[in-house]
Amino acid sequence: MADFKIPKATAKRLPLYYRYLNFLHNAGKEKVSSTELSEAVKVDSATIRRDFSYFGALGKRGYGYDVDSLLAFFAKTLNQDHLTNVALIGVGNLGHALLNYNFRQTNSVRISAAFDVNPDITGTIQSGVPIYPMDELETQLKDQQIDIVILTVPTQAAQDITDRLTKAGVHGILNFTPLRISVPDTVRVQNVDLVNELQTLIYFIDHYSNRPKEE
Ligand code: ATP
Repeated sequence: MADFKIPKATAKRLPLYYRYLNFLHNAGKEKVSSTELSEAVKVDSATIRRDFSYFGALGKRGYGYDVDSLLAFFAKTLNQDHLTNVALIGVGNLGHALLNYNFRQTNSVRISAAFDVNPDITGTIQSGVPIYPMDELETQLKDQQIDIVILTVPTQAAQDITDRLTKAGVHGILNFTPLRISVPDTVRVQNVDLVNELQTLIYFIDHYSNRPKEE
């Protein structure tokens, strides 16, 4: 990451900007205005200008931002210029789908190792990714210098595995289990609770949607 702090909300919008700038670059465009960006990524242009000021990118009035230099900056900040190997634990339905997906639209992240307790699948290769038994967890993470892990195990196994990961020096966990796992300050967790997200969406549609209700 870049060696300066940018606000979290700004950091979250970076991939959005990055994808669109990439698209512009591929289309051969050299300049982009904050208004044009705003329409494309659906972020208001004042926010875009403020975000970009954190990157030291100062668009000239009536001229816009330079696509390539912004892209180079974002690539560096987002670590797109080097490959991050991550591991996945729990090759069930969801885990398998993620292995198959394997972040193909980016060259910067890939699942390079998976782990499971099921002897029917350990020792096999699924979607190009080797599945290791859990007793090889610590050694493989160390050998492959992996410090980010995707967790797709059953809920009741999540905390024990998290404790092992913490001990093994992992720094990031993408948690697909509904359990709010406990970690020390040295470990960052991102929760992806699909059921919860869907229920939130249903709630909003039911309560705030303008569409006529069937009654
Ligand atoms: P999903 O929730 O992904 O749809 P599923 O219903 O196919 O999964 P689960 O029972 O949730 O299966 O288990 C997910 C995977 O986690 C399985 O492949 C299972 O073998 C594996 N698993 C279960 N316990 C552990 C554990 N303690 N350590 C590692 N892997 C485990």
